[in-house]
Amino acid sequence: MSSSLALDTPIQYVKGVGPKRAELLKRVGVETIEDILNYFPRRYIDRSRIVNIQSLRVGEEVTVVGKVLSTELRRGRKDRLMVMIGDRTGIMECIWFQGIGYMSKVFRVGDMVAFSGRVTFYRGPQLIHPEYDKISEEGESDPLHTGGIIPMYPSTEFLARVGLDSRGFRKLLKMVINGVKDTIEETLSVSIIERQRLISISDAYKNIHFPSDWKSYSLAEHRLKFEELFYIQLFLALQRKTTETARRGISCPKIGKKIETFLKMLPFELTDAQKRVMKTIRNEMGLEKSMNRLLQGDVGCGKTVVALYAMIIAVENGYQAALMAPTEILAEQHFLTIRQWLKGMGINVTLLKGSQKGRVKEEVYEKISGGDVSIVVGTHALIQERVRFKKLGLVVIDEQHRFGVIQRAALGRKGYSPNILVMTATPIPRTLALTLYGDLDVSVIDEMPEGRMNVDTFWRKEKSREKIYQYIKERIKEGNQAYIVYPLVEESEKIDLAAATEGFKKLSEDVFKEFRVALLHGRMNSEEKEAVMNDFKSGSIDILVSTTVIEVGIDVPNATVMLIEHAERFGLTQLHQLRGRVGRGGKKSTCILLSKDYISEEAEKRLRTMISTTDGFKIAEADLQIRGPGELFGTRQHGELNLKIANLAVDGPLLEKAREEAFGLVKSDPELQHPENRTIRNVYARRYRDKFGLINVA
Ligand code: ADP
Ligand code: MG
Repeated sequence: MSSSLALDTPIQYVKGVGPKRAELLKRVGVETIEDILNYFPRRYIDRSRIVNIQSLRVGEEVTVVGKVLSTELRRGRKDRLMVMIGDRTGIMECIWFQGIGYMSKVFRVGDMVAFSGRVTFYRGPQLIHPEYDKISEEGESDPLHTGGIIPMYPSTEFLARVGLDSRGFRKLLKMVINGVKDTIEETLSVSIIERQRLISISDAYKNIHFPSDWKSYSLAEHRLKFEELFYIQLFLALQRKTTETARRGISCPKIGKKIETFLKMLPFELTDAQKRVMKTIRNEMGLEKSMNRLLQGDVGCGKTVVALYAMIIAVENGYQAALMAPTEILAEQHFLTIRQWLKGMGINVTLLKGSQKGRVKEEVYEKISGGDVSIVVGTHALIQERVRFKKLGLVVIDEQHRFGVIQRAALGRKGYSPNILVMTATPIPRTLALTLYGDLDVSVIDEMPEGRMNVDTFWRKEKSREKIYQYIKERIKEGNQAYIVYPLVEESEKIDLAAATEGFKKLSEDVFKEFRVALLHGRMNSEEKEAVMNDFKSGSIDILVSTTVIEVGIDVPNATVMLIEHAERFGLTQLHQLRGRVGRGGKKSTCILLSKDYISEEAEKRLRTMISTTDGFKIAEADLQIRGPGELFGTRQHGELNLKIANLAVDGPLLEKAREEAFGLVKSDPELQHPENRTIRNVYARRYRDKFGLINVA
């Protein structure tokens, strides 16, 4: 291979790749030389850590490297594939019961293969369904004798079919590295490399793929992790700079009648935390500088009031404000709440729904573009659809991690550069906050309104049902109100509705027939919902049977009992949100989690967490442990950043350094015009154009 290959050379020009393999590689995101260099090994086999067959012990996790001696596909009551392997010290069996048709074609006698798994014993040591990596084929020289540490690459069945199994990738990378290793252009500036004591990019690529020892591997990993985090932080820094400069001119210094009226009308005393955050927001909105703020605070701490305050400031200064919720139901809830709060203040509020019919929608569009409405509530369709604001000054995003960095950047692309306030109830570890929200300043409401009572939480099973009903009746007779919640089944609103409707029928006509019972669900229209909620608020309904629509928004201090049906089906965050609806009036409150008799281990962990604490932070932590970071923070966000080598769970300190460098760079050279930074500018453009769909540097 010629040594003049540039990093952006398409992969099919590499010898031995060709159009077919190139097409398949594209599916795993590899299109250029640079992409293949960033196709990192999933693990390594170190010759010194391989276990001899002779010294295997049952129950141990091991990697064994051996030659395939025989393979046998045995048909019978239980089909299986048995592969006998041997090393210098002995022989053993590897066994597969599944996928044996395909597996039987993978191994040939004479292949050198690394097998990893837990040792079992049946007439001799065995590995059942071990992980495997082909190291060499019959007749090839054995890389174990040449190199010490062998990279193992991720592959897929479709890649393996064209020879790109772990071994195929190893050969391809060996060739690419040999071809380009002296010509790889540096991807960071000299000063950053020196300050952070990083090795060169050439060495890093060479040593991440073919490390000569673990020390050089660590240096390579460190350099590449830094680089990955640096460019994400650079994106965030540039993003922040762009919005800040674009937003000059939006300043909302006027605090007038509307704000005064609003504050006077509040039916409660603001908490100190709320006051503090409101002051920060007021000051920031008053400046010519833009606001990019994350507002964090547990369920029920009162974020909505703060957001509404910011929206009214925008309106008072002649701008429009938009509130985006993650789902239509939540948008509707917010709309109803806000309209209630703003009654008689002369501020027009409107709801924009994806499901609105053409004519109605057109009218809403017109009102927004004509400036007839000041506050618009909706989902993020608000910024995606054909909505044109007359003078958008503030966007509030009430999110559950579904609105990430890239979506925020999309706002700017639509030509808007409003102030932004993102609200979240999930306590986020700092590392994650710095990547997901690294372009934002953070405010925290760390105090609950007075009169919030700890809610007693119980977990009960079917056999307690009658007792629970009895208990609810007693509480209602004492003048309390109750929620009975049905779960969302498989995200399907229909089934969801059926369960709640059925439950409602039985409860209203039979169990609680002496009381006033009403049903609330997502399919009702806004007027119906509002009517039911108002009845519940005014006390003319005793029991509100509902689907999860009450997760947010409803605030009835007199409702002190909540029964959650099929509690095992809810996620922790959701249960926490739901429970936040009771315990609001200073009266003793109760939440009963009713589950099936037999539930999964995970579900049990969730319910045990719920009865052991009401602290949102502890609940989020438990959630992190039960589900892992990927799920907790939404696969979307995770995939959005798609980290290849850095790991947010452990690379916090490195992330901080990368952030410092990136933000420092943008501060000292906002356009990345200095000759020394040209490299970074080019790399950013080349690597991140597709990923982020926009470039902020000229
Ligand atoms: P969240 O932060 O979870 O969005 P909300 O904004 O929905 O919480 O507030 C929860 C409830 O508490 C609302 O009904 C709101 O009216 C009420 N609330 C907000 N601030 C206070 C306060 N300082 N004192 C009493 N109640 C408050
Ligand atoms: Mg809220």
